[in-house]
Amino acid sequence: MAIQKIEHLGIAVSDLSLAEEIFSKLLGLKAYKEEKVEREGVKTVFFQIGDTKIELLGGLNEESPVSKFILKKGEGMHHIALDVNDLEEEMKRLQKEGFIFIYDQPKEGADNKLINFIHPKSTGGILVELCEEKK
Ligand code: ZN
Repeated sequence: MAIQKIEHLGIAVSDLSLAEEIFSKLLGLKAYKEEKVEREGVKTVFFQIGDTKIELLGGLNEESPVSKFILKKGEGMHHIALDVNDLEEEMKRLQKEGFIFIYDQPKEGADNKLINFIHPKSTGGILVELCEEKK
């Protein structure tokens, strides 16, 4: 099986520290990581829940894709991330199936991952992230 599990769920928020506080209370645990990804214009906060995670995403500026997402759709569910063994291999498989990727090549993402996104147009509306743990 090339797709291993749901690695995390990404949630877009306009006030990251408020959202972190809410999710800390909700989950009864503290975030294990905060990370800025300047290239993507985002700051992320991660919570570990068993074998999977929740990623809160806040835009660093108005040009950030996350800020644009919130303007268009409001805060909330942003993407589902699937853990894959071999991102390039999965990209090839999915491109053959007609899925459209946002980037031509895997990119460096948060949390020590190589990532790419499948465009929501080709998944029926949900942004899907594929991520491979960097070895
Ligand atoms: Zn993500």
